[in-house]
Amino acid sequence: MTENKETIIERAEGAVLHTYNRYPLVLEKGEGVYLYDTEGKQYLDFAAGIAVQALGYHYPGYDEALKAQIDKLLHTSNLFYNVPAMEAAEKLVKASGMSKVFFTNSGTEAIEGALKTARKYAWLKDKREDHEIIAMKHSFHGRSMGALSVTGNEAYQAPFRPLVGGIRFAEYNNLESVRAQITEKTCGIILETIQGEGGIYPATEEFLKGVKALCEEHDLLLILDEIQCGMGRAGHMFAWQEYGVKPNVMTCAKALGCGVPVGAFVLDEKAAAASLAPGDHGTTYGGNPFACAAVSAVFDLFAENGIVDHVREVGDYLSGKLDELVRQYDFIAERRGRGLMQGLAFQGRPVGEIVVKSQEMGLLVITAGNNVLRLVPPLIIEKKHVDEMLDKLTRALF
Ligand SMILES: *Cc1c(COP(=O)(O)O)cnc(C)c1O
Repeated sequence: MTENKETIIERAEGAVLHTYNRYPLVLEKGEGVYLYDTEGKQYLDFAAGIAVQALGYHYPGYDEALKAQIDKLLHTSNLFYNVPAMEAAEKLVKASGMSKVFFTNSGTEAIEGALKTARKYAWLKDKREDHEIIAMKHSFHGRSMGALSVTGNEAYQAPFRPLVGGIRFAEYNNLESVRAQITEKTCGIILETIQGEGGIYPATEEFLKGVKALCEEHDLLLILDEIQCGMGRAGHMFAWQEYGVKPNVMTCAKALGCGVPVGAFVLDEKAAAASLAPGDHGTTYGGNPFACAAVSAVFDLFAENGIVDHVREVGDYLSGKLDELVRQYDFIAERRGRGLMQGLAFQGRPVGEIVVKSQEMGLLVITAGNNVLRLVPPLIIEKKHVDEMLDKLTRALF
């Protein structure tokens, strides 16, 4: 028997470390693009577990693939080969046109691997032990020490100093500010192709191309964090594909496993040829058969069902509707985003209240950055779900 909501919340707070101020909702099950709480209330899901559940809940073929793998083998360690990891890596290589994959368990671990790759690449050239990495202000790359060190958010960093050294911050979408941070010690530049947590800011084409050119000029590794904007969300399998700017290192997580915890960092030929070697990096769980069966199924289901094309179509529809809201309401300053990664910047109205009101209306949305309402639904939503979201959101606004 399910206990009542208050008891569950009380017991959770009694045992789980309070590092999140959670909404007082206890989610129990999902179906399609809807979630249900323990009281049976239905929510249209425009949060997708923070851009994770790209295929929603119980997408045909997904659960079956996981169940089949459970019946075979969950884990082996990286001391041996396994078929799901081989297949998942091949699919990620093919989708990205890059060269080699290292699977992790999370986004932040993928960032750690990317940072180590950049340092090793440069170390092999000059044996310096003081290499620097350029990161962006208002970025988000994760909570482990390396990823936190490149996360341009003072509040997240302050209590944990000293952080990893040799990080210099530049301004996103300001090429001159990046150029100004380059020294003879620089080994890499890391940025999100579309800043997510920072408030949904897509890179401008001029900026991304400019950063790539700087990397080529100085032989630095360009690390693009695609953890949130990748896997079809921005209307391309990887957001950088829209710009035609290929990174040397790409990080993935979130929707990579569509609910199974898994991440990856992916190297192009140049980075793969001269960086991490046996003994340099490892993980016990990373790339285990279960997680990789999920990744493999996700790539297959994306291809079979034309998910990326679908994102462009529904994304255009969503963008159009959101632009109407911007025109209609003074308290919405602008819309930013690509595909099904959209943000509405509010002014003069706290977005936190709108999130809570939306929940009452049966809609899950989240926030980002400075008073931005973030819409990152499952990629399988239809136009009718956009309409339903707008209906609920509009009622939450008044
Ligand atoms: C969520 C996120 C991360 C961190 O991923 P975790 O799996 O939470 O460690 C890193 N970068 C970006 C862009 C993210 O959105």
